Amino acid sequence: MIPYGRQDITQADIDAVVEVLHSVHLTQGPAVPKFEEAVLDHCGTRYAIAVNSATSALHIACLALDLGPGDWLWTTPNTFVASANCALYCGAQVDFVDIDPRTYNLCPLALEKKLLDAEKEGRLPKIVVPVHFSGQPCAMESIHALAQRYGFKIIEDASHAIGGKYKDEPIGNCRYSDITVFSFHPVKIITSAEGGMALTNDEKLAERMGLLRSHGITRSPSLMTKPMDGPWYYQQVTLGYNYRMTDLQGALGASQMTRLEKYVTRRNQLAENYDVLLKDLPLTTPWQDPDGYSARHLYVIRLHLSEIGFNRNRVFESLRADGILLNLHYIPVHTQPYYTDMGFKEGDFPEAENYYQEAFSIPMYPNLTDTQQIQVVAAFKKALSQKITS
Ligand SMILES: *Cc1c(COP(=O)(O)O)cnc(C)c1O
Repeated sequence: MIPYGRQDITQADIDAVVEVLHSVHLTQGPAVPKFEEAVLDHCGTRYAIAVNSATSALHIACLALDLGPGDWLWTTPNTFVASANCALYCGAQVDFVDIDPRTYNLCPLALEKKLLDAEKEGRLPKIVVPVHFSGQPCAMESIHALAQRYGFKIIEDASHAIGGKYKDEPIGNCRYSDITVFSFHPVKIITSAEGGMALTNDEKLAERMGLLRSHGITRSPSLMTKPMDGPWYYQQVTLGYNYRMTDLQGALGASQMTRLEKYVTRRNQLAENYDVLLKDLPLTTPWQDPDGYSARHLYVIRLHLSEIGFNRNRVFESLRADGILLNLHYIPVHTQPYYTDMGFKEGDFPEAENYYQEAFSIPMYPNLTDTQQIQVVAAFKKALSQKITS
C-alpha cells in the first residue's frame, strides 16, 4: 500500500533517542530546549514553548490570550477539529469563516464581510485562527490588517506548514500574528512522535504559556507572587496542565529539524512532478499563491465530478484496489455531529462543503519515489477512464 503520508526515521534519529534513554533525564532535561532552539533558529522568532501536541499548544495559546466564556474564536471549517476545539476548552464559542475556493484557506474577503456584520451585532471575535492548509500560507497581510482594525488576536495554526515561507520569510516568525503553532505528529512535515510547539515574540505570552505547560508552577523568583521560602521552593501561580514534551520526543524533533529543508524541497519537487503528470486529467491540481512557498504537507486534487460521471467513492475504491490509499482533508468541522448539535448546519459554509465533495489528498511524503508517483498517476488514469457501466 502507498499511504498518503509517512514519516522518515533515520539511524541518526534513533541514536538521538537512544542517547536520551541512557541519560539521566527522560523528561525535563536538555533535549527539549535544544529542539526549541533549533525551531527558533529556523523561524527567527524569540520564544518557543514545546508541548505534547499541537492541540495542547492551541489550548495554551488561547488561554495566554485570555480567551474565556463570552468570547468568540473564529477559524476555518477546512481544518482538523483541534483548531476549533481549543476555544471550547476555554469556555468560549466558535464560529467559522468560509474558504477561498482557490487556496482552500480561510478567505480574507469572507472574513472582512463577517467582521462588518459582527461589529454591528456586537460580537466580534477575540481570536482568529488562520490555518495554513496543506502548507500553503494564508493571506496573512490582509488578515493582520483586519486584526488591527477590529482588535482581534491571531493564532496561526501552522501544523502543516513548518519549513514554508510567506513573502520570503519563514512561517513561524509571527510577523503577522501573536502566536504560531506547529504540530509534530508523524504525518506532518517533521515529527517528535507526538508533539507541538507555540512560538511568539511576546515575552509575556511566552511566560504565560510556559506556566500553563507545567501546572502553572514556576521556580523563577521573578514570576512568583509571594516571597520565596528557600532554594527548594516553587510556587503555583495559575492553573496549568501537564502538557510537557518528553526529552525522548525533543531529541527526535531536534534530529528531524536538521532535515527540514531537505524534506520541504523534496515535497515541492514531488508536487511539481504531480502538476505535470496530472495535467490532462479531469481534476484540479493545487493552485499556489505567489506570496507563499508551501511546505507541501498535502497534495490535494479536486475531481471534476460532473465530467467524470461517477462519484468519488468509486475513485477511492479503484485506487485502493491498486494499492494506493487516498485520504480526505477535511470533513468541514461545522458538519461534525458535535458541531451540528451546537446549531451549525449544512449550507452554512458552502465553499468548504463543495470542496469536501470533490477533494482527495494523494500520496505525498519525502520518501515517495518517482516510480511510485508514476504508479499513483497511472491508477488515477485507470480510475477516471472507467465508464459508468451499471
Ligand atoms: C494535526 C493538526 C492539529 C493537531 O495536531 P496534534 O499535534 O495532533 O495535536 C491541529 N491543527 C491542524 C491543522 C492539524 O493538521
